[in-house]
Amino acid sequence: MNSTAYVAIDRCENYNQEQIFSCLKELCEKANMPDVRDRKVLVKPNILSDAKPENCITTHPEVVRAVIRILKENGASEIYVGDSPGLHNPGFCGKNCGIQDVCVQEGAIWCNFLQNPATKRINGTKTKLPMAGILDEVDMVFSVCKFKTHTLMYSTGATKNLFGLVPNLNKAVCHTKYPSKESFAKLIVGIHETIKPAFCIMDAIIGMEGAGPANGKPRPINILLASDSCYAMDTAEALIMGYNVDDIPILNEARSRHLLPQNIEYPILDARNLVIEDFDRVPISRKTRFIRSLVLPFFSTPILKRKQRREPAPQFNDKRCIRCLRCVNICPAKALELKEEADKTKHVVCDYKKCIRCYCCHEMCPVDAITVHNRENKEK
Ligand code: SF4
Ligand code: SF4
Repeated sequence: MNSTAYVAIDRCENYNQEQIFSCLKELCEKANMPDVRDRKVLVKPNILSDAKPENCITTHPEVVRAVIRILKENGASEIYVGDSPGLHNPGFCGKNCGIQDVCVQEGAIWCNFLQNPATKRINGTKTKLPMAGILDEVDMVFSVCKFKTHTLMYSTGATKNLFGLVPNLNKAVCHTKYPSKESFAKLIVGIHETIKPAFCIMDAIIGMEGAGPANGKPRPINILLASDSCYAMDTAEALIMGYNVDDIPILNEARSRHLLPQNIEYPILDARNLVIEDFDRVPISRKTRFIRSLVLPFFSTPILKRKQRREPAPQFNDKRCIRCLRCVNICPAKALELKEEADKTKHVVCDYKKCIRCYCCHEMCPVDAITVHNRENKEK
């Protein structure tokens, strides 16, 4: 654990190429970016699904461009870029989100995480997971994430972004092994400690609020962030969103493992002065957390699973649904099926007894036909 971490934050009001580059360059200096001279670097943006940049689901391509340019200017020998979206088709290359074009224009190498994955034991767990093979070839990883809410984990930032290093549906399967927020946070922190990213950058020029990470609303935050600690950056993000940092499961897990920096320095803007009062947060499930805190020390997994069902369940809007089956294909609990009625109409139906409330279906739905938190649930 570093005793002091640096989170450099500054205003950047649009995706103008030169503005982002000069802003990020200063942030990287102030946040102690490591020496990359003659190093091979993997840039890991957030490409949850290959959506257009204006949907604000993915790290904006101009931020990725600026990161590549800064790495080149600082002498990196090879720059790789890659991610594995929730549903990863062979040949995926980040075309729609604009990142593939940036790689071609800037001379970075796109890597396909499906090729030659390497099995790694996840730090602090007994789990072994396939991970992008390129990790064994690079000297360092930069997490280049997006400022977004997250229906399961409340916020997604630099640490959670590393989950995309696990290729394809292996990610969804992790939810069955680690079904609660707390256990899933343990896995994510374990991945962070296995990979140990060297630096992180967050695109918060336009972030996402509401039902993130895929179906929320774009929200201009008008800042960029850089840090030498993913946990410190995620702390800053949570503060800006208006969360109590103690409510964020990933940060709680990192704290319990004594991994949080003892001190966070803000050399330019201070996250504590940037709180967005009317930010549309994912409601904290206090009832479930309270019950789990009582139950966890004494009872076994089946009881915990029953308590898990107290989390809000996904609801399916039949009128919006286009029957793409993404939700059915990704559901790790096999709780969803496309059912044909007597009148030959087809609907997605959920077996709520099987559902583990991982919200992968919600993340993958391309038309926002699945909701999780309604207004009545808010902050209960
Ligand atoms: S129905 Fe949705 S929330 Fe429930 S287990 Fe399947 S993917 Fe997860
Ligand atoms: S992902 Fe959305 S649109 Fe596709 S089948 Fe499921 S509910 Fe319908």
